[in-house]
Amino acid sequence: MTTTLITGANKGIGHETARQLIAAGHTVYVGARDAERGRLAAERLGARFVLLDVTDDATVEAAAQAVEADGGLDVLINNAGVEVRGEGNSVPGAADVTADQMRSVFDTNVFGVVRVTHAFLPLLLRSAAPVVVNVSSGLASLTHLSDPDHPGHFYPGVAYPASKTAVNAITVQYAKGLPNVRINAVEPGFTKTDLNGNTGTQTVEQAAEIIVRMARIGPDGPTGGYFDAYGPLPW
Ligand code: NAP
Repeated sequence: MTTTLITGANKGIGHETARQLIAAGHTVYVGARDAERGRLAAERLGARFVLLDVTDDATVEAAAQAVEADGGLDVLINNAGVEVRGEGNSVPGAADVTADQMRSVFDTNVFGVVRVTHAFLPLLLRSAAPVVVNVSSGLASLTHLSDPDHPGHFYPGVAYPASKTAVNAITVQYAKGLPNVRINAVEPGFTKTDLNGNTGTQTVEQAAEIIVRMARIGPDGPTGGYFDAYGPLPW
């Protein structure tokens, strides 16, 4: 039996990933920062609930202890993520972004990944086939952001792409430093969720597919890569 924790799984892509992995036979922990939203989602899905705010050491450590006491962990999906949104769903661009906005996005999207991975690593290292999936973004790709022929080029925000580029760098460094763990970054695609005011063009079912695929890779699977549904992406 494979046991999987998904952070930020009370809604959106994380919630759908939980649904698909449960269907594939995983025992899934829905990590959520709000107990009520998390419990309801876990009940709906047939998952376990664990309180976990990725920006908060105490809840992350308590979650790791609870999961350890319950039998351990094989797969960690770092999915929780935020974007800064202003009026009319706008994102602050180069002229407006502040250090505080940047810090708040990095706190969840970057430091949250490190905080949760660090806390759960001792459990993962006891698994026969440990896997980490970091939910990145197409906007993490410096190749795409700097290519005027790529749609990602026109995204004006600063904090969110930078945070996901950092997630990609963390993924590469972790993969080298932890050769027994399969660790990959994935781009789920532009998806209709609260993160973008439901302006995305894909469904959560489509978005979860690559996350599920990378969550199910075996010990011979890739590590230190960056993938979307169609294959490897340029950094
Ligand atoms: P979403 O519907 O807004 O879901 C985000 C989830 O993260 C929610 O469950 C939210 O919980 C949770 N979360 C936020 N901060 C948290 C914290 N401090 N601790 C624990 N959970 C926290 O967005 P989504 O689109 O599904 O995003 C999921 C992931 O996909 C993110 O990493 C995002 O960057 C990535 N992504 C999304 C798209 C897209 O087009 N949607 C594209 C590429 C990548 P609450 O309900 O409590 O807020």
